[in-house]
Amino acid sequence: MENILRHIPKTDKLLKAKALEECNGVLLKKIIIEFLDIYRNNLLEGGARMEFEECVECIKEIYRKRTKKSLKSLVNATGIIVHTNLGRSVFSNEILEEIKPLLCAYNNLEYDLKEGVRSERYIHLKNLFAMLLGVEDVLVVNNNAAAVFLIFNTFAKNKEVIVSRGELIEIGGSFRIPRVMEDSGAILKEVGTTNKTYLKDYQEAINPNTAMLFKAHKSNYEIAGFSKEVSYQELIALAQERGLLDYYDLGSGYFGLKGLDILKKYEMPLEEIASLNPSLVSFSGDKLLGGAQAGIIFGKKCYIDQLKQNQLLRMLRVDKFTLAVLEATLMAYLQEKYEKIPTYKMLLQTKEILKKKAEKLLGLVQESFKPVILETKGYSGGGAMPNKALESFGIALSFKDEKQLEQLLREKGVIARIENGKVILDVMALLEGDERIIQKALLEIEESYAR
Ligand SMILES: *Cc1c(COP(=O)(O)O)cnc(C)c1O
Repeated sequence: MENILRHIPKTDKLLKAKALEECNGVLLKKIIIEFLDIYRNNLLEGGARMEFEECVECIKEIYRKRTKKSLKSLVNATGIIVHTNLGRSVFSNEILEEIKPLLCAYNNLEYDLKEGVRSERYIHLKNLFAMLLGVEDVLVVNNNAAAVFLIFNTFAKNKEVIVSRGELIEIGGSFRIPRVMEDSGAILKEVGTTNKTYLKDYQEAINPNTAMLFKAHKSNYEIAGFSKEVSYQELIALAQERGLLDYYDLGSGYFGLKGLDILKKYEMPLEEIASLNPSLVSFSGDKLLGGAQAGIIFGKKCYIDQLKQNQLLRMLRVDKFTLAVLEATLMAYLQEKYEKIPTYKMLLQTKEILKKKAEKLLGLVQESFKPVILETKGYSGGGAMPNKALESFGIALSFKDEKQLEQLLREKGVIARIENGKVILDVMALLEGDERIIQKALLEIEESYAR
């Protein structure tokens, strides 16, 4: 037994191995000790002896695996622009370059340069929102879910919030409006039915303990056919008449710029909502807006001031990164530099552009996959227009087992979908350079199958 173990290499010798010289010493030593422990037990159980070089290769492989980052960039060939599982809105290089000097240095995040005193991090977006939407004030928290919670907690703790049964939604990631309300301390007062709610229902539900009339965007579902919902405009009027607060959780807010006519048919743009003079509105920063993860709240200054008094805000506060991205993104909207906002750019793609993208991709795919161009249904995602497809194009690939091809592509960082027995690569959400990544992945797959 003594004999077998004598073949185990010494830790010091392994540490000095040429093939491992790029590795960090502390981490490497840990891995070597772990490896030797397993190797020793293996030998004792009759396992095979390994040469020194084999041990080094093994250790190198463990090191490589341990230092591989978990977050990876992917190609989104699903046709869904704002895909929550794939990181929602993509940043442009331009925006990141623009904010880089600010993030790699100290800055005036909470500092008043004129007076040399402490200031507030939320003021940086105030003027931009005033110019873009004409709103009095704005507040930014970690995400829209946090915004909803903060607003209920501040204004409706132990008080009633009236909401239509048709809007008691659950969105992805098990965010359920009724649960959020309950956890925030607000009392849920449901009115109407799933398909029909009238203004009268709200009127009759108002009582001395009512704090707020609430509206939620239905986001990922739609009530079609025999239905009636009360407009936000009507709710605002009723709230004002009865001295109550109105609040609209928009989900995915967007600026109603030219080219977005299809969206405007289904969703009220921010400008229109702001012009109604609402008490409070909130929406996500990384859905259709195309910025960073954030919950953006705008409305009347007196209410925003009250939100700022809530201790919870300290727990929900955003980093300089978020504010810098949002400032740069809003500035791009203000100056109509939309090329800086990939989400917006993708929403504006014409049929011709999409077809060209598909033709370019087709030219890069090998014949063995029998690629064909087809018309597809893309989606904006982010809970906007859940049932309205955007006309797009894709490439359909044939393979002996489509599920296997989808999986192989996925392993290589290309996320596709399967339809009618074919793997579809939708071009709607492809970014510049993605075609080459797809080409490389397919080449590798073809090669490993030729072997
Ligand atoms: C997406 C969404 C939220 C949650 O927003 P996050 O930014 O993901 O936290 C809340 N309400 C509605 C209606 C939504 O669509």
